[in-house]
Amino acid sequence: MQLLFADQLGPHFELGGGILLPIVKNQFRKRRYHRQKAHLILYALRSRAQDSNVTAVELASYRDLFTGDFGASEAVNPTSYPMRRLAEALELKISPARGFCSTEKDWSDYAASAKRLRLEDFYRRQRTRLDLLMDGDQPVGGEWNFDDQNRLPPPTESLDVLGPWLPKEDELDKSVRAELDELESQGVKFVGKDGPRKFAGSRQQALQALSHFIENRLDSFGPYEDAVDQRSWAMSHSLLSAPMNLGLLDPLEVVRAAEVAYQQGKARLQSVEGFIRQIVGWRDYVWHLYWHFGEDYANKNELGANNSLPAFMAELDSGQLQANCLSSSISDLAENAWLHHIPRLMILGNHAMQRGYHPAEVNNWFIDAFVDGTPWVMPANTIGMTLYADGGLMSTKPYAAGGAYLSKMTNYCGDCPLNPKKRVGEDACPFTAGYWNFLDKNPQLKSNHRMFNAYAGLRKLNDLDQLRQQEAERNSF
Ligand SMILES: Cc1cc2nc3c(=O)[nH]c(=O)nc-3n(C[C@H](O)[C@H](O)[C@H](O)COP(=O)(O)OP(=O)(O)OC[C@H]3O[C@@H](n4cnc5c(N)ncnc54)[C@H](O)[C@@H]3O)c2cc1C
Ligand code: SF4
Repeated sequence: MQLLFADQLGPHFELGGGILLPIVKNQFRKRRYHRQKAHLILYALRSRAQDSNVTAVELASYRDLFTGDFGASEAVNPTSYPMRRLAEALELKISPARGFCSTEKDWSDYAASAKRLRLEDFYRRQRTRLDLLMDGDQPVGGEWNFDDQNRLPPPTESLDVLGPWLPKEDELDKSVRAELDELESQGVKFVGKDGPRKFAGSRQQALQALSHFIENRLDSFGPYEDAVDQRSWAMSHSLLSAPMNLGLLDPLEVVRAAEVAYQQGKARLQSVEGFIRQIVGWRDYVWHLYWHFGEDYANKNELGANNSLPAFMAELDSGQLQANCLSSSISDLAENAWLHHIPRLMILGNHAMQRGYHPAEVNNWFIDAFVDGTPWVMPANTIGMTLYADGGLMSTKPYAAGGAYLSKMTNYCGDCPLNPKKRVGEDACPFTAGYWNFLDKNPQLKSNHRMFNAYAGLRKLNDLDQLRQQEAERNSF
């Protein structure tokens, strides 16, 4: 019998025999999950449990697998260090990990041959190996990368795109909601608002969500993929990370569907390439880095950031926030358990780095508050890319940015009482002030040649003392 882990729910994880599916609700007692994330996970498990080849067992803990006779003898290699230790201790026959576009052997071959790990090199290798969007040994369209066309600020008029696929809640949603209400009445605490569910929670729904995206939204994915538009929470993003991370969709079927859409003239190349890069590039890259950097990587804190997460993040409560970008991101997160890449990186992550929140706390918060958060996806994204807490193993410089960037790539500033151009004073933008304050407080970054211009700018500030005092006294955003 195959022991199936909770993120291995699709057919591409099946080894061919019967399936044992543990359902361990006590996981929700250990961490404070977004209510909609708990809902989606439980819905997906209960839905999979209905399949005829699956035997579901309710367990208080995964450790119960050691005491009961459940007959599990094999498994697909799980996606986290603790689960791999469990599978090993249970003496299961382990098959290589699935659910990504490359194997761990593909990665070790790449890493062994690389002078330096670089997403761009890994991505090109993936495209070539998979013969994906290729014309012989050359990329279709003659370019590997259309980023220069994909960095538009938010459109003046609302984006003209059909909304995302949304599930129709069913009887299973009702019973999952009742189960979660029952847990809450027993003292389990969630954050964020309850439903309606917005993400695919079964194989059939995941296929519908994929096809809706490919047919209606992929074409406009590229140009505005880095912009944030407060009128549109999902813009042209796919919302497929959650079903992919639950194992309901095989990322290879997702990228092949995107390639076919390009071949059929349904989606422009810049969008298809941009989308495929996110999956065979970034998604696989951060997965392999989770193993490559090792388990302790999640505890790195090279900038010595030791402040606790503020209550507005921990509670997802935007009530006291003045900064429109921050307040809108927190309330959208409370509403949907999801934000696209740029609010995660350049608003919430940028804020967390500027304000020196402890990296492991930030990492765990992202895992628990986001519907697609997993232990494997987060360390490279938060510790590395977002917080620069690894001292530069993942990125060549910190993604720190002030109000100038945010006023260009988002449309929050027009409705904000603060002024992105001001670094000191009543209406100073906390991102602009925070940017200079971050540089000032981290002089060790001066030796990074990519930070040369930033520090040259800092040296020219004639109000640095005032800014230092303002930021030392700051107790609101
Ligand atoms: C601080 C931070 C936290 C993040 N947390 C998560 C997370 O918990 N789970 C998660 O899957 N992604 C995470 N990402 C990456 C990215 O933000 C999400 O994958 C994306 O926003 C999900 O929405 P989507 O499916 O509409 O993505 P789209 O914009 O439609 O992109 C397509 C797919 O590309 C993949 N992808 C793109 N970038 C990344 C990346 N950096 N890492 C991994 N996959 C990527 C995802 O599978 C995504 O579904 C995080 C990024 C940052 C900076
Ligand atoms: S002015 Fe500053 S705080 Fe306000 S929305 Fe713009 S970047 Fe955010």
